[in-house]
Amino acid sequence: MAQFLLGMTLAQLEGVCTAAGMKRFVAKQLADWLYKKRVASIDQMTNLSKENRARLAAEYEVGHMAPAEVMTSRDGTRKYAFEAVRPGQYIETVMIPESDRATLCVSSQAGCKMGCTFCMTGRQGFHGNLSAREIIAQFMDVDEAEELTNAVFMGMGEPLDNWDNVKSAIEILTSEWGFGWSPKRITLSTIGDMATLKDFLDSTRCHLAVSLHNPFHEERQKLMPVENRYPLSEVLSLIRQYDFTGQRRVTFEYIMFAGVNDTKRHADALARLLSGLECRVNLIRFHKIPGSPLASGSEQMIEAFRARLSAAP
Ligand code: SF4
Repeated sequence: MAQFLLGMTLAQLEGVCTAAGMKRFVAKQLADWLYKKRVASIDQMTNLSKENRARLAAEYEVGHMAPAEVMTSRDGTRKYAFEAVRPGQYIETVMIPESDRATLCVSSQAGCKMGCTFCMTGRQGFHGNLSAREIIAQFMDVDEAEELTNAVFMGMGEPLDNWDNVKSAIEILTSEWGFGWSPKRITLSTIGDMATLKDFLDSTRCHLAVSLHNPFHEERQKLMPVENRYPLSEVLSLIRQYDFTGQRRVTFEYIMFAGVNDTKRHADALARLLSGLECRVNLIRFHKIPGSPLASGSEQMIEAFRARLSAAP
């Protein structure tokens, strides 16, 4: 079965060239054809000799993915389904247009094993990690591929639980031989997977978003089982070791659940927890999911919470 070139980093492409008896510099040409000229087949790589193309084609394909379904909402948001991980398994990619940007919300896993009680993906269980190719193809195989300005790793899955492949994808996106994007265009959202968070913070300059949702250990445990393994206090201690006062941003996501995490007590504790840290807090309205007792709060409640947070010293 053919392997895919898409999703390979420059170092991996060098390995391919060396193994196929080609010069190492051909890897740079390959990266150029894959990520800049965005060809669909090895045949189109016309500055490679016929012999080299034949050697490559004997083992590899480029590896683009056609979306299985596309749905456009009234606000212009476009949802794509891609078959990934195995036949019959689908993941979602969402393109969100705004006046001056087009943001791609990317999936990193099919399903998720983290089991957050408020999340539909969590309910589906875990079906596998996306390969770097399946992550990069989301950027290249949506209709808006040429217009994308930003990306958020906030789709299906916990990106830090598939860190090797997400890291390769980020390397491709941010390298001069790849997409050449500034890391400022990318945000990775995590529930706080400490096993790989440090490497993310050390090896990239991308923005970080942390799903916080409750400032109290015992209460957060009930919403997010990850709290048992990696308490928020440890996640925050790590984050505080990094500089978020310049170009790099850290945002805390806080979904508002009526009667669960929306009191003054919660607002005050959240303010205390984040005090002295240069960050943003994103209060998010909850969209109810079937079979869950969690309910969404009113706009007034969210505004009152926001006001309390802003007033905190
Ligand atoms: S980590 Fe993210 S995708 Fe996984 S269950 Fe929690 S909220 Fe859902």
